[in-house]
Amino acid sequence: MNELTYKILELKKNKNAIILAHCYQNIEIDEVADYIGDSLYLSRMAAKTDADIIVFAGVYFMAQTAKILCPDKKVLLPDLQAGCDMADMINLKQLREFKLKNPGIPTVCYINSTAEVKSECDICCTSSNAVKIVESLHAPKVLFVPDQNLGKWVEKQLGNVEVITYSGYCPIHHNITINEVCKIREKYPDIKLLAHPECKEEVSALADFVGSTTGIMDFVKNSSESKFIIATEKGVVDRLKRDYPDKDFMIIKENLICESMKLNTLQDIYNALNFETHEIKVNKEISNKAHICIDRMLEVSKAGVK
Ligand code: SF4
Repeated sequence: MNELTYKILELKKNKNAIILAHCYQNIEIDEVADYIGDSLYLSRMAAKTDADIIVFAGVYFMAQTAKILCPDKKVLLPDLQAGCDMADMINLKQLREFKLKNPGIPTVCYINSTAEVKSECDICCTSSNAVKIVESLHAPKVLFVPDQNLGKWVEKQLGNVEVITYSGYCPIHHNITINEVCKIREKYPDIKLLAHPECKEEVSALADFVGSTTGIMDFVKNSSESKFIIATEKGVVDRLKRDYPDKDFMIIKENLICESMKLNTLQDIYNALNFETHEIKVNKEISNKAHICIDRMLEVSKAGVK
């Protein structure tokens, strides 16, 4: 164990802190993290922790979500520049205009959205539970923000709900082209392709499995296959290679990297914990409303659809 890792672990103990790490983070962060996973898992862990301090190794909206769920705790983001391009594609004004154009329809927001956007949506979802959440509304039409690709994928899975999507997207997943998929499929026709639902509809349509980062990792865990092509951020591939050294993983294209996610370093985590810097604050009224939106998701996600 290097000295920095040791110091972080000591600080965590002394300050009753936990570190939540998204699986797109630099892999060395796993050594100090208490919980590693996707947005849904990390939201659940934030909601039930007894720690006084939460260091969120992820991007801004994730730390904001943790603060909304734990308003009395100190939530720290190691690098304040770590944002999400998709979340920034819709603000409150744009959400209101979108709703005005489509009145009387329930609105679902992907967790990759700001606290302000969540505060004016009916329910939140993650890529793990988006289908279940939309289904739980029992509505013929649903508005979905900000990710057009996840929204359209949900529509396809359900078949009986019109999902009216906002025009947002994740640049990392959206930039995977059908040509790139066809090329790799042609070269390796027998290898399973696992894709994230933030990919374009036509890319998801060619995959053998479409799921969240946790869904992809679970698929590998439960599969008897030994080779996989992965269409999501490189952090997932790094962890799969580490956890399954006997299996082969190919990333669908080079440089499938979310630069924002990679901003947090071990040194930033140490600094945040030591100096308690980059504390995330959310306006109380916005936070209360956004909390209802996230809580509804956690309830449906726990209970299943009726
Ligand atoms: S991978 Fe895409 S959706 Fe995830 S944080 Fe980066 S930009 Fe946002």
